[in-house]
Amino acid sequence: MMRTVKTVKEMAKIRGDLCKMNIIGLVPTMGALHEGHLSLIRKAKKDCNIVIASIFVNPLQFGPKEDFKKYPRDLEKDSEFLKLAGCDILFSPQSGDILGKDLGTSVHVEGLQSVMCGASRPGHFDGVCTIVLKLFNIVRPGNAYFGLKDYQQFVIIKKMTDDLDMPVNIIGCPIIRDRNGLALSSRNAYLSKDDYTKAVRINKALREGSRLAGLKKLKAGEITALLKKEYLKGMKTDYLGFYDADMLSLFDEKKKPSGKLVLAGAFFVGNTRLIDNIIIRI
Ligand code: AMP
Repeated sequence: MMRTVKTVKEMAKIRGDLCKMNIIGLVPTMGALHEGHLSLIRKAKKDCNIVIASIFVNPLQFGPKEDFKKYPRDLEKDSEFLKLAGCDILFSPQSGDILGKDLGTSVHVEGLQSVMCGASRPGHFDGVCTIVLKLFNIVRPGNAYFGLKDYQQFVIIKKMTDDLDMPVNIIGCPIIRDRNGLALSSRNAYLSKDDYTKAVRINKALREGSRLAGLKKLKAGEITALLKKEYLKGMKTDYLGFYDADMLSLFDEKKKPSGKLVLAGAFFVGNTRLIDNIIIRI
């Protein structure tokens, strides 16, 4: 019997249900894999029949003064890691293959980029979205897995797929940390011993910020000032603030907050830029 579908929402749901019969999970990465990446693979393994991981150091998301050239690359080791984690397909295209000769299209998500990493890395998220969209079109996954460590990236990709009715579920996965609380990152490989000692204070600061916010005695600006003074000495703060977790607008004490806030920051420890965040439920 033929079924008639009259709404976008219902059509999207039916297509989603059909996808679930043979669901492909995609985990996009830039390689130099660690437990944070592998946690996404494991989650995808639980949800999907086939897991595809991509490794592509995307030149479009690096600024001219950023670390594109020296970004750590070790495809052989990554490939072993992925095998052990049960990944079914590793997709590692060459730059020219995925970018083409004359890429003339860039994907821009409006409205979520004037703060946080978007403010200090102009064009970064356009580069991310353009490549993620290309990966989605090449792989056509039913689910795609992203770490909440890159919180703004997660929100922007979710918005892109919602805005464009893309038939893919965006799944956010928790931040994996080392035993001292430092969020795992491929860039942690750049840290000297001294830098590492400083870097572990980032998560301590965010947790203290979350605690202080819960006490409701201090204003957001007072809390971030205190964290910079007490915990984040010896590193340059790129940004640190409380943001609405959905809209990413800077938290405004005068307005009633919606459900969740995110306390997020980026810091230069030596020359290494590290990001971290913590979700605060109100
Ligand atoms: P990257 O290779 O840095 O582009 O990261 C690829 C994916 O892994 C992104 O979705 C990141 O958010 C995620 N990721 C990176 N580090 C972590 C971590 N420590 N915990 C969870 N997810 C992570």
